[in-house]
Amino acid sequence: MRSALETLRRDFGGDIIEPGAAEYGPASRSVLASGTPAYVLRPRSVADVRAGVRFAAGSGLPLSVRGGGHAFAGFGTNDDGIVIDLGGLAQVEVIKERHLVRIGGGATWGQVAAALAPHGLAISSGDTKSVGVGGLTLSGGIGWKVRKYGLALDSLVAAELVTADGEVVRASSEENPELFWAVRGGGGNFGIVTAFEFAAHPTTDVFHGRIAFPASEAAAVLQGWADHLRTAPEELTSIASFANPFAGGPQAPVEIFVAFAGDDPELAARAIDPIRRLGTVIDDDVALKPYADTLVDGATPPPGIRLVTRSAFAGEESVPEVLRILAEVGASEGSPLIAVRSVGGAVSRVADDATAYAHRQAELMFMTTVLGPEPVVEAARPALEAIWARLAPHVNGAYANFLASATEEDVAAVYPAGTYERLAAVKRQYDPGNLFAHNHNIRPQ
Ligand SMILES: Cc1cc2nc3c(=O)[nH]c(=O)nc-3n(C[C@H](O)[C@H](O)[C@H](O)COP(=O)(O)OP(=O)(O)OC[C@H]3O[C@@H](n4cnc5c(N)ncnc54)[C@H](O)[C@@H]3O)c2cc1C
Repeated sequence: MRSALETLRRDFGGDIIEPGAAEYGPASRSVLASGTPAYVLRPRSVADVRAGVRFAAGSGLPLSVRGGGHAFAGFGTNDDGIVIDLGGLAQVEVIKERHLVRIGGGATWGQVAAALAPHGLAISSGDTKSVGVGGLTLSGGIGWKVRKYGLALDSLVAAELVTADGEVVRASSEENPELFWAVRGGGGNFGIVTAFEFAAHPTTDVFHGRIAFPASEAAAVLQGWADHLRTAPEELTSIASFANPFAGGPQAPVEIFVAFAGDDPELAARAIDPIRRLGTVIDDDVALKPYADTLVDGATPPPGIRLVTRSAFAGEESVPEVLRILAEVGASEGSPLIAVRSVGGAVSRVADDATAYAHRQAELMFMTTVLGPEPVVEAARPALEAIWARLAPHVNGAYANFLASATEEDVAAVYPAGTYERLAAVKRQYDPGNLFAHNHNIRPQ
C-alpha cells in the first residue's frame, strides 16, 4: 500500500484529498450521499486518471468514480475507499463544421449547454444543470428533446476510456465496437470515460414551460396527455408530475411540463394546445426561451435527507392501467411524488440491440420518489412496496438513472438476461477483476 501511495504521489498531478484536509468535507460527499473515503483524487489530465486507476487497482480498496455526483444510489462516494472525482475534466470543445463536440468525462450538462449555446447547438440531455454528462449518458439520458433526438447516448459517436489496467481505449462504431455498444447503456462498468464525443444538433430557441391543472382532474388529464403524445409531433417532449409533497401532496396540482423543439409559434401551439384543452388550466407559463434556459439548477438536499427513487417503463398496451393506478395513488394521503416522462419517438426507432439500453419500445418512463429524514423514508416503505406490487403486472424494466438502489433485482430490471450476458462478456475483457463495481454492476463471472 505504501509503495502504491508513493507511486501515486509521484505520478498524479491533481489533488489528493485525505481526511483532515480543509476541503475533505465537501470532497467526501456526492450530491445525494455522504461518505468517509480514505482518498479523494481529483485528476487534471488523462495521465492523472491512469495513475489513479493504477493506484486503486493496486491498493485493493473500493473505488467510486464520480462524474456529476448525482446518482440516487450514492455511487459517487464510499467509506474507506478511493473516490476519483472527474470534476476537473470538464472541457467542452466544439468542432463546429462537423457539429462534433468533445466533452470531458466530468463535465455537467449546464456547462455543456452554456458552451454550445453561442454555436446554436445542443445535445438532448436532461433537465438539470448540475447533472453529470458521465452518469446520465452511460445509462441513457432522457432530456427535453428526447422524442426528437433520442437519448443522450444516441448522440454519442465515440468515447475514450481508461480501463482497469490503466490503458487508454477508444470506442466508436469503428474502434472496439462491442465496447462502444456496452458503454451506451452499461453505465460505468467498463472504465473511466475521460472524453465523450457527441454529434450535436442545431437548435433554435424552444417553447418550454409548465401547464397546471387541479389535482381533482388528474386521472382525465393524465390519460388525455398520454393519448395526445402518441400522435403528437416528435418536437414535443413532456413530463407529468403530481402528488408533490411540497405543494400539497394529494391536493397538489398536476403539472404538465412541455418542451417544443422549435421556435415557430403556430407549430408549437398546434402541438401544445391539445394539452391545454385536457382540463381546467390554473397556470401556464410556456414561453419561448434559449434551450440552455430549460435546464434548472439542481437542489442539493440537506445532509440527513434521503431520496428513495424507483422507476419503470410502460408500453402502449399498459399505459391506461398504469396511469389509472398512479392517479389513484397520487390522490391518497402520503403518496410519493410521481413523475411520468414521455419517451417513444426517436428512442424507439433505434434497434433494440444497437446499444445496451434495453427499453426502446416503452412509451412512458415513470418514477416514484419518497424523501425525508431516514425514519420518514423507512415508515413510508411498506406503502411504497404495496404501490409497486400493484404496478408490477403492468410495467417492465427500470431506468438505471432513476434508481436509488442497486440490488440484483434492480440490475435484472435494468438489463434483461440477453443484454446482461453480452455486457458480462465485455466486462470480462475490460475489467475482469471488477474494479469498477460501484454502479449497477455487471459481474465478470
Ligand atoms: C436533480 C436530478 C435531476 C435529474 N434529471 C435527469 C434527467 O432529466 N434525465 C435523466 O435521464 N436523468 C436525470 N437524472 C438522473 C441522472 O441521470 C443520474 O443520477 C446520473 O447517474 C447522474 O450522473 P452523474 O455523473 O451526475 O452522477 P455520478 O454519481 O457521478 O455517476 C453516476 C454513475 O456513473 C458513473 N460515471 C459518472 N461519470 C463517469 C465517467 N466519466 N466515466 C465512467 N463512469 C462514470 C459513476 O461511477 C456512477 O456509477 C437526474 C438526477 C438528479 C439528482
